[in-house]
Amino acid sequence: MKRIVILGAAESGAGAAVLAKKQGFDVFVSDMSVIKDKYKQQLDAYGIPWEEGRHTENLILNADEIIKSPGIPDTAPMVMQLKQRQIPIISEIEFAGRYTHAKMICITGSNGKTTTTSLIYHILKQAGYNVGLAGNIGRSLALQVAEENFDYYVIELSSFQLDNMYEFKADIAVLMNITPDHLDRYDFKMQNYVDSKMRITRNQTEQDAFIFWNDDPVVRRELEKYDIKAHLYPFSEFHETASIAYVEDEEYVIEQPTPFNMEQEELALTGKHNLYNSLAAGITANIAGVSNEQIRKGLSSFSGVEHRLEKAGRVRGIDFINDSKATNVNACWYALESMTQPTVLILGGVDKGNDYSEIIDLVRQKCIGLVFLGVDNAKLHATFDGFDIPIVDVQSMKDCVDACYRMAHPGACVLLSPCCASFDLFKNMEDRGEQFKECVRNL
Ligand code: ADP
Repeated sequence: MKRIVILGAAESGAGAAVLAKKQGFDVFVSDMSVIKDKYKQQLDAYGIPWEEGRHTENLILNADEIIKSPGIPDTAPMVMQLKQRQIPIISEIEFAGRYTHAKMICITGSNGKTTTTSLIYHILKQAGYNVGLAGNIGRSLALQVAEENFDYYVIELSSFQLDNMYEFKADIAVLMNITPDHLDRYDFKMQNYVDSKMRITRNQTEQDAFIFWNDDPVVRRELEKYDIKAHLYPFSEFHETASIAYVEDEEYVIEQPTPFNMEQEELALTGKHNLYNSLAAGITANIAGVSNEQIRKGLSSFSGVEHRLEKAGRVRGIDFINDSKATNVNACWYALESMTQPTVLILGGVDKGNDYSEIIDLVRQKCIGLVFLGVDNAKLHATFDGFDIPIVDVQSMKDCVDACYRMAHPGACVLLSPCCASFDLFKNMEDRGEQFKECVRNL
């Protein structure tokens, strides 16, 4: 019997284990950290052996194939050993894709993945499609393939997931943008990261669709290098000949495959970045055959996603905005760009090779105060000291929100859009966002 070993037992690993077991493989799960009770119970329910807090070599190196969690880097000693022995390593999505005939709608990009994925899911679901939501959001694709029978999956894919995908094919692939992110996992070489993102088009044929943001210089450049077989659906902010979807005279327009238009004002999501997300989602639904009436309904009724420019409350005329999900500089740029009030900006956390120069102009134009929330704020000081904007250093969310409250005035806003990962002071970005909202409620 073929032996499949799964490294990492969180959502994707536990789901992959269940699917592998159901497919009749000899399955073993190994996690270097403590496995959450929820996943232990799931594995036990299917009689799948697991270990935590270690990787036992003789239980792993005898695998025919490894399914690796996207969180484990290629430099992890066990992964290096497996590579040396040429044991194939795949992702959970690659594995799950083998056991379903459902149509795959896959979304990647440096920013906007979760919003676009959720919006596409929302449109399809409310149009009555039998659709599952998977990838980085919600339940793993593997678990759904094991337990459900969907006709469509809308899947958010990170570059780490794309890295270990080989035969998988997206029927509809969406590439939102490519800006520097996670460079620490790509030898600090931008091209490695770009190549990873472009894997979303791998194996696509003439029958498939590739939707991409045509204003992105990196994507445009890469398109010339890659021989993409899929039908191309470029979208852009303004009408230009090459693009099939855009905004013109405040009208949101899709030309292909089915002509569609609506008032831009009716879109539920606001801000320039969300216009891109709404365009990508509209084209996707259009290709999937959703009626114009239903697309219009879906695009205008979406309620947004938590921790993405989420309104966290108004106190003494000061608006607090939770954009904890902005873990890179580009995401923060779009958040700041959409601010219409004087802004106290919260930056800081774990830097993934950031270059803050991109936001310098917007900080000068819009910010009345900066609060650095991190263990090591040296790089932020090196960039922003001497800007004639007050700066405060803090190491807890309570101190942070108190400092912002003191710096802001009625009519101003406080924006948590930190450009950084959260692991120095918080469990994750959700924890950071929750604590922010809690502290605002307690003001
Ligand atoms: P991802 O899942 O790719 O991290 P999200 O949809 O969660 O993307 O959005 C993360 C942050 O990125 C948001 O808080 C917002 O500030 C910014 N953002 C969202 N969509 C876009 C976009 N299309 N282009 C640039 N930035 C975006």
